[in-house]
Amino acid sequence: MSNAADPTRVADSLAQAVEAIEAIDPGDRYDPAVPAAIVSSGLHLLCLPADSGGLGGGLPEAVAVLSALGAVSGSAALGFAMHTHVVGSLYESSGWPAPLRAWLGRIVRDESALLNSAATEEDSGSPARGGLPATLAVDAEGGVRITGEKTWTTWLPALRAAQVTATVASGGIGNYVVDLTSSGVERLPGFDALGMRGSASGRLVLKDVFVPDDRLIGVREAGQPDPRGPAPGAWFGAAVAAVYLGVGEGARRDVTRWAIDRRPGDGSTAVADLPTIGVRLGRIDAALRSARIVLEDVARRWQAAAGAERGGLVAEIGLAKVTATNAAVLATDEALRIAGGPGFLAGRIERAFRDARGGLINPPLDDIAYQGFARRLVDDERARSLG
Ligand SMILES: Cc1cc2nc3c(=O)[nH]c(=O)nc-3n(C[C@H](O)[C@H](O)[C@H](O)COP(=O)(O)OP(=O)(O)OC[C@H]3O[C@@H](n4cnc5c(N)ncnc54)[C@H](O)[C@@H]3O)c2cc1C
Repeated sequence: MSNAADPTRVADSLAQAVEAIEAIDPGDRYDPAVPAAIVSSGLHLLCLPADSGGLGGGLPEAVAVLSALGAVSGSAALGFAMHTHVVGSLYESSGWPAPLRAWLGRIVRDESALLNSAATEEDSGSPARGGLPATLAVDAEGGVRITGEKTWTTWLPALRAAQVTATVASGGIGNYVVDLTSSGVERLPGFDALGMRGSASGRLVLKDVFVPDDRLIGVREAGQPDPRGPAPGAWFGAAVAAVYLGVGEGARRDVTRWAIDRRPGDGSTAVADLPTIGVRLGRIDAALRSARIVLEDVARRWQAAAGAERGGLVAEIGLAKVTATNAAVLATDEALRIAGGPGFLAGRIERAFRDARGGLINPPLDDIAYQGFARRLVDDERARSLG
């Protein structure tokens, strides 16, 4: 059986999920019917290879699906993005123990398991900046016992398993797959947040949770790169970019519709036909279309690249992520300015404005990406002047 994506199955599943989520209309709420709709549409199988019973989608299909969902509901798309980046990178990373990869693939296919990565902690700060986990893994007979608390674990109520990072008492940083049905696991609500309120980004509390040896992904020394290679970071960055691009594109559609329908005053002119509004709509469109071109291009190149060449595309994925998230921030800000008072009222345009800000917090962060671009510029120029 081929591992290439079946475009008809992907399109059918997406259409089914979009229709269901539009009918649920979760707004700012987390509704368990949303992940259930993803599963019943078959979309949770998107990035499982076809020969493992999945839809065989790679990064281009993930980008297409997540951006389409983001235009319907940012929170729903973000929740599904977390599952998507874990499953997609699972099959493109070198460092996974084969039996563990097979188990995860099996529970996704046979038990409709939804997955995520729980790395962030309240006190240690962003793991993307090298924050060390306070969560502790202590050696035990046949595995480890993990104790700690992870924050911002998206779609926490719906998850079956999560990748969890922990400082290993005997040395190093361990990365484990924790079955969230294990004893000692507690799922608590998250904090009140500006946006993405329906993403159920909660607190995962682990109290002496036993994790057997065969759920260990790997242990690395602090400060060392992820032994699984570039795929986990690349999938995460592209998935986040797609979600927020979709949030911006949803706001573009909503505000355009609104501007066509709205005829204030004597009713002779639609807001959409006012020259100043045209400039704003054009600015929204230019930012979002540029971001889509960059993101789709890098997703296609990632898919076409041989494994070893993919490391060279990580900076380009960072470019796509900062371009898409900043385009979404610009687009939703302009949309709110266009819609004036009506846009300020609680609703889709106002929610998109709040949701879009979340993308700025996810790695790769703007300052890290821009410093990386600068380093490359300076290094290349120095090398040229020496050569
Ligand atoms: C909606 C949403 C969903 C999320 N879902 C998940 C999830 O499912 N799983 C998960 O693990 N995480 C998740 N996160 C967490 C996210 O990925 C970040 O890791 C987390 O927000 C920590 O970053 P921070 O900026 O809040 O924290 P901090 O690291 O405390 O940073 C605070 C501020 O200081 C700056 N800063 C920190 N260190 C440095 C430094 N060394 N140099 C310069 N500036 C620095 C930061 O840029 C930031 O501006 C989610 C976040 C959001 C908003």
